[in-house]
Amino acid sequence: MMKVRGYAARDAHSPLTPFDFERREPGPDDVRIEILYTGICHTDLHQVRNHWGGSMYPMVPGHEIVGRVVEVGKNVKKLKANDAAGVGCMVDSCRTCSSCVQDLEQYCEKGVTLTYNAKERNSEQLTFGGYSEQIVVSQRFVVKVPESLDLKAVAPLLCAGITTYSPLRHWKVGKGQKVGVIGLGGLGHLGVKLAKALGADVTMITTSPEKAKDARRLGADDVLLSPDPDAMTRANSSFDFLLDTVPVGHDLNPYLRLLKRDRTLVLVGALTALEPAPFGATFVGGRKSLAGSGIGGMAETQEMIDFCAEHQIVSDVEIVPIQSVNEAFTRLEKNDVRYRFVIDMASLQH
Ligand code: NAP
Ligand code: ZN
Ligand code: ZN
Repeated sequence: MMKVRGYAARDAHSPLTPFDFERREPGPDDVRIEILYTGICHTDLHQVRNHWGGSMYPMVPGHEIVGRVVEVGKNVKKLKANDAAGVGCMVDSCRTCSSCVQDLEQYCEKGVTLTYNAKERNSEQLTFGGYSEQIVVSQRFVVKVPESLDLKAVAPLLCAGITTYSPLRHWKVGKGQKVGVIGLGGLGHLGVKLAKALGADVTMITTSPEKAKDARRLGADDVLLSPDPDAMTRANSSFDFLLDTVPVGHDLNPYLRLLKRDRTLVLVGALTALEPAPFGATFVGGRKSLAGSGIGGMAETQEMIDFCAEHQIVSDVEIVPIQSVNEAFTRLEKNDVRYRFVIDMASLQH
């Protein structure tokens, strides 16, 4: 075992504080990574605060991880020492179920092993995430990061990037389609960039009028203010696809009305009750679908990173030292982030 320094939450209410723990020595299929940057996903806040129930402490959050490979096991071929590498939301799965064999490890029927707030497979050992100096991960769950990208702005691609890319690809979003991205935060700003790069006509649907200018700078062709009922009514039946990144339960009815007939709204944000529940009539009148999507498989995550390198897409980031992580959480809670906090892990040494 090797000693690793990180930051952990000890319960749902207290600030994160320094935490020393142990990780396994790399096995034959493992990659040991020195973590350079870790993004702060809204999920980190949900998990630390136990919004979804079942949180396990001590919890070292972080699943948007970028670093340099320090060491690889003897079976590892795709990466070598000094390569830039990324780790996202999962670190293991059963590898044999129908989802795993189809490269959809995130939907593993035996349960995916999350990067943190989970137990290692067949073990009581908790997994610990990227708010730490090093991580050891099986090669299947590590992606290669092209050196042409700015590493600190790559970190958020490992969750926010793949979570928006995967549904855009699955529902074949592209040229000639009008796409709406709901919520301009970490996921939303990458959703706009990716949908644009895929050729769609993109509208940012936001509750924040002050973000309109940013939305256009990020590539949005249009901005729709969701608190404006007249603007929403005018936009009814005009969208081919909607990607909903709102982190809390909310009224879906006004958004579903924006869809054309036979089109789909994909939920990636809220994992809790959607209140008020959507009306049957909003689906029935127009044969509309409501769907969900979780991150993306590892092969697709590599595809997304390579797509981002080709199109020079990275996240808009605000770099923070680990010592400011609690302040960053508070600001994230207040919707005060443009558009992703990323922790510079070098600050751990101070
Ligand atoms: P974020 O950076 O906080 O962005 C969320 C955005 O949603 C905000 O910037 C805001 O945009 C909008 N919003 C916030 N509160 C709202 C409210 N009450 N009503 C309407 N809009 C609201 O969060 P994120 O990191 O992008 O994460 C978004 C959600 O996705 C979280 O719940 C996270 O847990 C989830 N997530 C899911 C997956 C998955 O696999 N499905 C993966 C990663 C994250 P405007 O100011 O523009 O309105
Ligand atoms: Zn995330
Ligand atoms: Zn499986």
